[in-house]
Amino acid sequence: MQQDQVRDSATDSEEMSEDFYSLLGVSRDASEDEIKRAYRQKAAKNHPDVSDDENAEEKFKKLQKAKEVLTDEEKRRMYDQLGHDQFMQADKQGATDSGGRGGRQRAGGDPFGGMGGMGDIFDQFFGGGRGRSRQNRPSKGKDLRTSVTISLEEAYEGVTKQVTINRPETCDACDGRGHPPDAELRTCPECNGRGQVRQVQQTALGRVQQARTCPRCDGQGEIPDEVCSECGGDGTVRNRATLSVDVPAGIKSGQTLRMNGEGAPGDRGAPNGDLLIEVGVEDHPDFERDGDDLHMEQPISFPQAVFGDTIQIETLGGRVEVDVPKGTQSGETLRLRDEGMPHLRGRGHGDLYVHLQIVTPEDLTEEQKTALKQFAEAGGESVEVGDGFLDRLRNSL
Ligand SMILES: [Zn+2]
Ligand SMILES: [Zn+2]
Repeated sequence: MQQDQVRDSATDSEEMSEDFYSLLGVSRDASEDEIKRAYRQKAAKNHPDVSDDENAEEKFKKLQKAKEVLTDEEKRRMYDQLGHDQFMQADKQGATDSGGRGGRQRAGGDPFGGMGGMGDIFDQFFGGGRGRSRQNRPSKGKDLRTSVTISLEEAYEGVTKQVTINRPETCDACDGRGHPPDAELRTCPECNGRGQVRQVQQTALGRVQQARTCPRCDGQGEIPDEVCSECGGDGTVRNRATLSVDVPAGIKSGQTLRMNGEGAPGDRGAPNGDLLIEVGVEDHPDFERDGDDLHMEQPISFPQAVFGDTIQIETLGGRVEVDVPKGTQSGETLRLRDEGMPHLRGRGHGDLYVHLQIVTPEDLTEEQKTALKQFAEAGGESVEVGDGFLDRLRNSL
């Protein structure tokens, strides 16, 4: 931190003096696009990877700062009001960042606050720069995906399912190294053992020289002189694996379960990826699901609707007795608390809604017909017993 401050103040005098507009070579009323364009041109010329100037990095950071301030409406207004020197003072105190973002970054020791370090800008302009640090670190294995379908009953109870996947696994013959354990190592001819190669890239901004992880030795600097015959040097082989998946009660269609470490193997001892299992729940002929609630239709007879009755209902949890109140209309709903789906990884259940449907009888005996005719007449209706009567009865219900 002490060193940072010293370096910081050493550059102050220079930094203070150079106005952002003249640094970028734009007029004070330049549009945001003009500023960005000017910045790109200057940045390309002054990028530390292409410039021979030993102060290239400092210059480049100043350009970044100028662009950051002038392309931020709020900061640009402040800059215009305060002037360069006062603005830079305020900026150092974290007063130009409304979100407090700058303050935190300064605490981290970045003297240029408010903007990421070289890494960010490098990525932004040249792409892939971020990968440099990552490529040398063993990376976690890939996540793999599969799916499993269960019935609504299984979703109600919870179930253990077998899934079979074809996944890459660490090659046993070489223990994932890609070459036999006794293979001789020799210095990588491509990078001469450095693990990195320099590459000249033609970009929109001109020629850029970039250090990349050596593709031949993957940054290791050495390569084996023999390849594993089992995996052809990949270090992985594809195997069929059958796994038991515990599907918890209450799971919904489309939800995904994760089995840690059951994905593809990681690089060079890094952890495996995970296996993601998407669960599908089949539709049920009798129940419709709405979250943790269930809906079902229950037929009742006309007399049951008129006089009321106690009926048996098959829920997913078993048979229950339900009272149908007298005078029930077709389409009325009974709510059975806690007879729905269990809450996932929680206590209790949703509810079961029983939609009562009064069924109109179709095949009546003579005795029933006579009784119904008397019923209708007692209500003041004059009916002829025949199909017409039944049709009208059906329509009236
Ligand atoms: Zn190499
Ligand atoms: Zn192998």
